[in-house]
Amino acid sequence: MSDDCLFCKIIAGEIPANKVFENDDLMAFHDINPAAPTHILVIPKKHIAAVKSARQEDSGLLGELVLKASEVARDQGLEADGYRLVINTGNHGGQTVHHIHLHLLGGRHMTWPPG
Ligand code: 5GP
Ligand code: ZN
Repeated sequence: MSDDCLFCKIIAGEIPANKVFENDDLMAFHDINPAAPTHILVIPKKHIAAVKSARQEDSGLLGELVLKASEVARDQGLEADGYRLVINTGNHGGQTVHHIHLHLLGGRHMTWPPG
């Protein structure tokens, strides 16, 4: 838990979120400003600021994060048409919340390269 972290506050229940999944290690909730018809954030409950801050000991947790995102995508009916998973990192990556989160985006055709 990091005191000044928005997503730690969501995990603690101090800020409400539209949750789609929660267990001891992970949480998934709808993005407040959706960039696609389905836009869900999947996060570890452990405060890891960014991919660059992850350690070898976090490898299992990060694996669970990706597997959970695929499960949520299936539950949301996105599997047949496909979807995109994104982790923005740092300034050029467009990261605005410094607690690792996996964006699950679906429900429309994504363009490449991203903006
Ligand atoms: P980033 O830009 O760091 O990759 O993504 C942060 C995401 O968090 C953005 O898509 C933004 O819309 C979302 N977000 C920011 N504040 C809140 C909030 O209070 N609740 C929810 N559910 N999403 C948020
Ligand atoms: Zn945090």
